[in-house]
Amino acid sequence: MARGLYIHVPFCVRKCRYCDFYSISDLSAVDAYLTALIAEMQMRTAALKDAVFDTIYLGGGTPSVLGPGRTGRILEAAAKHFHILPGAEITLEANPGTLTAQSLAQYRSAGVNRINVGVQSFDDANLLFLGRIHCARQSADALRAAEKTGFSDIGMDLIYGLPGQGRNAWQKDLDAALSFCPAHVSCYMLTYEPGTRLSADKDAGRIKPLSEDRVSAMFVQAQDFFAKKGYQHYEISNFAAHRDKRSRHNQKYWNNASYLGLGPAAHSYTEPERFWNHGDLTRYIHELSAGRLPTAASERLTDSQMMLEAVYLGLRQSDGIDLDMFEKRFHRNFRQMFGSVIRRFEQTGHMRTSHGRCRLTSRGMLFLDSIASEMAVVI
Ligand code: SF4
Repeated sequence: MARGLYIHVPFCVRKCRYCDFYSISDLSAVDAYLTALIAEMQMRTAALKDAVFDTIYLGGGTPSVLGPGRTGRILEAAAKHFHILPGAEITLEANPGTLTAQSLAQYRSAGVNRINVGVQSFDDANLLFLGRIHCARQSADALRAAEKTGFSDIGMDLIYGLPGQGRNAWQKDLDAALSFCPAHVSCYMLTYEPGTRLSADKDAGRIKPLSEDRVSAMFVQAQDFFAKKGYQHYEISNFAAHRDKRSRHNQKYWNNASYLGLGPAAHSYTEPERFWNHGDLTRYIHELSAGRLPTAASERLTDSQMMLEAVYLGLRQSDGIDLDMFEKRFHRNFRQMFGSVIRRFEQTGHMRTSHGRCRLTSRGMLFLDSIASEMAVVI
């Protein structure tokens, strides 16, 4: 199977209140980063002579802070050092505050064919709360401009479950999102990650998180809404207008495909090994300028770890776990292993096993973590 190529761009104009991804807002090292990234491509290519890639995903951080010129250089270097298949999906994550009609056209000329806009909300008060740099109008302008430029794969991210957010407010965001007819929508629940300003505000009692029940109700609201509009809820947080609008790249993470991650903090995987780069830009640049790979550590997954991941990642997806593939991969009979758990959750209507696949029902997805941990006990 073709691999995925992930490129981590560790820059953001400003750190959002809730974010714990590795990124910095000092842009002075952008060019040193670019030099190091291309050096990493040169060094990693030898070990991947026979590998082919059918996706490139520029994530971060905010890849669009690099601008089209530098993005074009990255894509050219990737094409020079790796075997990128024709028709590869090439995604750029973009912050609406960094996009213009002109830059969108240039990204397209550089080879980007899928754009994912970090809208988060169409309500300016929510954007202010989240610490985003953009306003709702900029999102609308960016989405319209992307369409005008000729992008047919336009996706957006939304966040729900903000303190005080009600059903109607969430519905307004969902309606506004669909008024742009996006090919893809990701809906992420607001989480309180340790070390973020948001989490500190919660711990200090400055904000009161929404109750779990209300957040769950918003998840169901989104599920029902997108189903009515004909979108496929193909992964717990992701909706696609058609099957071929699913994120080809992200599906690799969920389906045990190999991927190579470049850039600081990027992870790579080829069964059974996972390795990751130093999560610090200075160290990353330093290692590469000294002619060393920036790998921080690696681990060899045991069969149990891989089985656990196969269960958890499989249940996240509406296609579920392919039982034949599970058995071929682990030489274990899925039904025998998990029989009692499956029977119990089938009876409660949370799980369904049919056509050689085990999957969660729409409502079962609400209980993904607890169902997966019950299955983990058997592994
Ligand atoms: S723009 Fe994205 S990566 Fe950057 S700080 Fe905000 S949420 Fe994090």
